[in-house]
Amino acid sequence: MPELRRLRLFFKRVIWPYTTAIIVVALLSAGCGDNIPDRSLSTPVQEVIQAPTQSAAPFPTADSTEADNAANFSPTQEEMVSLPELPVSPTAAPTSTPSDPEQYPPCSPLSLHPLEELREIVSDPYHPPPPGREERHQGVDFSYYRRGDRTTIQGVGVQAVFPGRVAASIQGKFPYGNMVIIETSPELLSPEIKELLQIPEGESLYTLYAHMDKPPLVVLDESVEACQALGEVGKSGNAAEPHLHLEMRLGPASHDFLSMAYYGAKDTEEERAAYVLWRTSWQFRHFDPMSVLGTSR
Ligand SMILES: [Zn+2]
Repeated sequence: MPELRRLRLFFKRVIWPYTTAIIVVALLSAGCGDNIPDRSLSTPVQEVIQAPTQSAAPFPTADSTEADNAANFSPTQEEMVSLPELPVSPTAAPTSTPSDPEQYPPCSPLSLHPLEELREIVSDPYHPPPPGREERHQGVDFSYYRRGDRTTIQGVGVQAVFPGRVAASIQGKFPYGNMVIIETSPELLSPEIKELLQIPEGESLYTLYAHMDKPPLVVLDESVEACQALGEVGKSGNAAEPHLHLEMRLGPASHDFLSMAYYGAKDTEEERAAYVLWRTSWQFRHFDPMSVLGTSR
């Protein structure tokens, strides 16, 4: 029966392989529809949700006093230096920061960017060292390459977050460059912020604004209002790219820092002592400025 053999052969060589192939292709494309698009969609969505500050942080700041994250830690001259470890209050901890601030109105430190935007332009977050240590990041950095019509943060106005008194107005010293420290005594703060910060008796809140473009617009001991202009964002001192480095600390009231420097060959003993007092003595205890400024969550 040659006809039957030919038919069987035709089925074996043509119908069966084609049918099998069609079934396999159908199964595979069904799989694609369920899994692969899900996976490829979910990744970017997750990234967007998890990394709002990273997406607004187009470059690592070269603020090496401060720049530190485990992934790209590269010790610099400044980070390699271990300052004297001074006595540390056993109850104090650098991360004992207030949490969940309520809505209240400190002024944004950047004239063009309201408080609600600040989280989007954090280029290097607070990353505290243990008390008495110099390395890592004792404040928060704000910067960007491009935002709206602007192509740099350079020149954006720096302004006082809180009212107070100028406790330092320093020009061109390493590492902070042109910088201002404002002391705010507790009575100038709203009840919400006092509650948040729990400032001990006899102490004040100190806010430091570093790396400004030009010498500060305010002088030592001058009174300042909230939102008063202090200067403009720049890259003076230890900063390769323009950014605002902002620190907040609690420390003894009415202290003046006439100058502050540590790493220059010409820095005096007084300048180094002031730097150690501010940075590592733990009399001036840093905390995350975003715990006060990060009201938009
Ligand atoms: Zn910084």
